[in-house]
Amino acid sequence: MAETVRRIGVLTSGGDAPGMNAAIRAVVRTALSQGAGVVGIERGFHGLIHGEFVELNSRSVADIIHRGGTILKSARSEAFKTPEGRQKAVENLKQAGISAMVVIGGDGSFRGAMALTAMGVPAVGVPATIDNDIACTDVSIGFDTAINTVIDGINKIRDTATSHERIYVVEVMGRESGFIALWAGLAGGAESILIPEIPYDLDAVYQRIVQGQQLGKNHSIIVVAEGVDGPPSGEAESVAMRVGRYIRERGGFEVRVIILGHLQRGGNPTAYDRILASRLGHKAALLALQGIGGKMVGIVHDRIEAFDLQEAIEGHKAIDEEFYTLAQTLSSL
Ligand code: ADP
Repeated sequence: MAETVRRIGVLTSGGDAPGMNAAIRAVVRTALSQGAGVVGIERGFHGLIHGEFVELNSRSVADIIHRGGTILKSARSEAFKTPEGRQKAVENLKQAGISAMVVIGGDGSFRGAMALTAMGVPAVGVPATIDNDIACTDVSIGFDTAINTVIDGINKIRDTATSHERIYVVEVMGRESGFIALWAGLAGGAESILIPEIPYDLDAVYQRIVQGQQLGKNHSIIVVAEGVDGPPSGEAESVAMRVGRYIRERGGFEVRVIILGHLQRGGNPTAYDRILASRLGHKAALLALQGIGGKMVGIVHDRIEAFDLQEAIEGHKAIDEEFYTLAQTLSSL
């Protein structure tokens, strides 16, 4: 095993997610509790190259456990994908006496963590993305908060939808994965859920609305992930707009479209996300302090475990199709 590390760095990278701050706090306080020092790197890998380093103490992470976003800020860095950029980053780390890193982010950030490890700086990944699309973990930090934000929106939409007997098409985040749409759709009682992983039939979506009306439902909610291929349209418009247009044109219903957008990234992390971030951040710091790199920490059956970063990057996290069937069954009567 590698020698004990006396000073670690921590950064947040890629898309931000609620709970990243709770993870930073856990990393910092775990390292301090082990008598090690911690340096925060601002703006992800960009800050690594540009030497944006801040010494962190216990007070630096006070009063952040409940805040969305990330106090370290996040950025994307094309330069870090070049050997010159990475070389500069490693030199900066050496100069600052940092011998291991914790990288909080999505799978892009994990590739950066792999690159650091390959260059002699052991790095551990902490999965944080509202999309929940990282393999080797049941849940990623930020997902629970994001689906609760969506449900909050759906609850409000239901109130007005019932009053006006309308159809609402709600677009949520998820370019390549339907986790947010599926979970929030199930929890929000949506009549139809459209996700990139499962082919859909718009005629069937329409028929479900008609059927619902015959059963006495006075409104319908359709949740659509942004990454779904929409029906063809002459306009450059989002998938929800296209689905809304299709239903409107088939006739018989008043349709409204809502795109929740970046609302889903913000907000105070839920209790679940704070606890998950605290547990994952703690474990990641302990590994980094032992000089163990090339790993990510994940939660599987409520246990925190370490996996190879390679496995996490190459793996694919599939949605649970039973959720989809269940949502359909429960909303079709
Ligand atoms: P996420 O972590 O949310 O998936 P990105 O895919 O944008 O976000 O990745 C975040 C950052 O990670 C990139 O801007 C880049 O600096 C770094 N990164 C991504 N892929 C690589 C790679 N193959 N090699 C080195 N760094 C990478």
